[in-house]
Amino acid sequence: MIRVTEIDTFIVDIPTIRPHVLAMATMRSQSIVLVRLRTSDGIEGIGEGTTIGGLSYGDESPEGIKLAIDTYIAPVLASCNVSRVAATMEKIGKYVAGNHIAKCAVETALLDAAGKRLGVPLSDLVGGGRVRDRFPVAWTLASGNTATDIAEAEAMLEKRRHSIFKLKIGKRTVKDDVAHVAAIKKALGDRASVRVDVNQGWSETDADRGMAMLADAGCDLVEQPVGRHALPAMTRLSARHSIPIMADESLHGPTDAFNIAAAAGARIFAIKIAQSGGLLSAQKVGAIAEAAGIGLYGGTMLEGGVGTAASAQLFAAFPKLDWGTELFGPLLLTEEILTEPLRYEEFALIVPEGPGLGVSLDKDKLAHFRRDRTAPVLHAVVGGN
Ligand SMILES: [Mg+2]
Repeated sequence: MIRVTEIDTFIVDIPTIRPHVLAMATMRSQSIVLVRLRTSDGIEGIGEGTTIGGLSYGDESPEGIKLAIDTYIAPVLASCNVSRVAATMEKIGKYVAGNHIAKCAVETALLDAAGKRLGVPLSDLVGGGRVRDRFPVAWTLASGNTATDIAEAEAMLEKRRHSIFKLKIGKRTVKDDVAHVAAIKKALGDRASVRVDVNQGWSETDADRGMAMLADAGCDLVEQPVGRHALPAMTRLSARHSIPIMADESLHGPTDAFNIAAAAGARIFAIKIAQSGGLLSAQKVGAIAEAAGIGLYGGTMLEGGVGTAASAQLFAAFPKLDWGTELFGPLLLTEEILTEPLRYEEFALIVPEGPGLGVSLDKDKLAHFRRDRTAPVLHAVVGGN
């Protein structure tokens, strides 16, 4: 029986390299929730639970994620044999409803510890082994200014870091947004794939107009054009337009994946480990997509290095990853919190090789950036059930 003996959950606030303008918020820093736990056989596992723009993107905030873990999940953990990660998460699910990002952070830390215990990377443990060691990473152009975005895209192409660009739209009128996208696509031409994320910003009528114009402009896909619960509208839009819809906010785990697939509401899934409720659930989302002939894209909650490494380990094991990924979170931050940064080269992220996540935290940096400004100390876990 292997138990969690100590756990530390904390928020670090790290400035972004530029304001990141989304339909629902403008981010100037990212608040990352990290979990460090130690197991009774002396292994440390790390995990991350991160969201976008406080409470503006979804129904979990950084502060709420920490509270859910400290107050409700940690006491359940104390009674679990954590070498059995799926059984542990099943038990946590009995006591804690929802809270997918908090659960993802804890599950990631348990899987990291399990991988280190067995001496294998998470891609071997969760996905059954790697299909690829690297994959393309999209960059999000979200300065809000067309000329700035074109210059940023040109610089990324020049550096050979990204050739897929996602544009955040939905804040301005449909006409203005499409003009912005069309100008960028015209400037980049066939050298890049240009895609948009509306972040639920459109009505079905807006989407009808917008999707038709975006297809003409050479845009490759439209991410979450309408509200997350508007599945009938997504089905109608998918049937009416050749440009594919990618589901993001609509996709909170396997049940949503099944419902969207059954309703033909999207042709691509943006799989996110946090939104799915952890790597194990995200893997099921991938399996449903595969069975339904839905394309896969590896999504991000703009996580730092830990959550990005966890996502990369899972995405490396998907049989198909036709639309690449957007695992650029660490590149949006001004500070690195890993002892060794993730490697990005030749338009791709290189999946870490070591056991577990294959990454470790820089404890000095954490002490500086953690919100409570205390030195990182692991706290004893007190059992509640
Ligand atoms: Mg999105």
